[in-house]
Amino acid sequence: MGCQTDQELLGIIERVKPLVAKGKVADYIPALKAADQSNVSAAVFHITRGSDVCVSAGDIEQKFTLQSISKVLVLALALIDQGYTNVFQKVGMEPTGDPYNSMIKLETSSHSKPLNPMINAGALAVTSMVNGNSPDEKWRRILHFVQCLLGGKAIGYNKEVADSEYKTTDLNRSLCYFMKQHGVIDGDVDELIDIYTKQCAIEMNCLDLSRIAAVFANNGRDPQTGNILIEEEVARICKTFMVTCGMYNASGEFAIKVGIPAKSGVSGGIMAVVPGKLGIGIFSPALDERGNSIAGAEILKIMAEEYHFSIF
Ligand code: GLN
Repeated sequence: MGCQTDQELLGIIERVKPLVAKGKVADYIPALKAADQSNVSAAVFHITRGSDVCVSAGDIEQKFTLQSISKVLVLALALIDQGYTNVFQKVGMEPTGDPYNSMIKLETSSHSKPLNPMINAGALAVTSMVNGNSPDEKWRRILHFVQCLLGGKAIGYNKEVADSEYKTTDLNRSLCYFMKQHGVIDGDVDELIDIYTKQCAIEMNCLDLSRIAAVFANNGRDPQTGNILIEEEVARICKTFMVTCGMYNASGEFAIKVGIPAKSGVSGGIMAVVPGKLGIGIFSPALDERGNSIAGAEILKIMAEEYHFSIF
């Protein structure tokens, strides 16, 4: 199984580094503008290698916010909390060729159901389904769940990024009001946006992200203890959405060129899973025109070619 040493991974990072100059850091959430465009880091968490399981290279101390990657994790929690039938009554399973923040299909889909949980409308509906007696309890349960996926590590969220998105996210508010009018969500929109912007601002480094990816690679079991953190069926659903919708409207092309479940976020993170083998966490904030990390996607493409990662 490929990518066994830090040196090997560093070699791949060196190859993709020139690409960062071609991308652009996200700026529609004002606080994300501060990211250093030249950063590239990656970690590979092997689930079958014994004690020394993680290989990493690049600016590995650099933390970043999960943004859309959080959609996968909160989907897992909502499925655990509410079950398959309830969740998929409110949100669909079909990929879309539209951008993640698009509104257009909400009006035309049956019962105004968001097409899938990886676009913003679907993710907002999913977040609204997390159990909790108050918005604060819901948020604490989300954070606690992510910490469990990290083996109990106490991570937090970036308040500046969350506040920055909360103040500017009129489009996400519009999606919520539309869905509320049509009965997809209920409750207070600002409270939902508060939880959603915090979940998107959960902060970690690429090593942490690779560990979470390894839980999915390991069918929902903790890669170190073997404990079940996510039921296998829920992990399977999440990975399937990562294949069909995880790279936004570039998911089809990514499936052909790389062929593994992956989810990206506008901060430049990508979580990728090689089922049964390893989890990958990548951070590089320069994005291509569809909002995927330009160097990050290339790292995965090189790995897929060299190590034959494609699941197809
Ligand atoms: N917080 C971001 C938003 O809702 C997440 C989007 C993303 O990472 N694509 O716009």
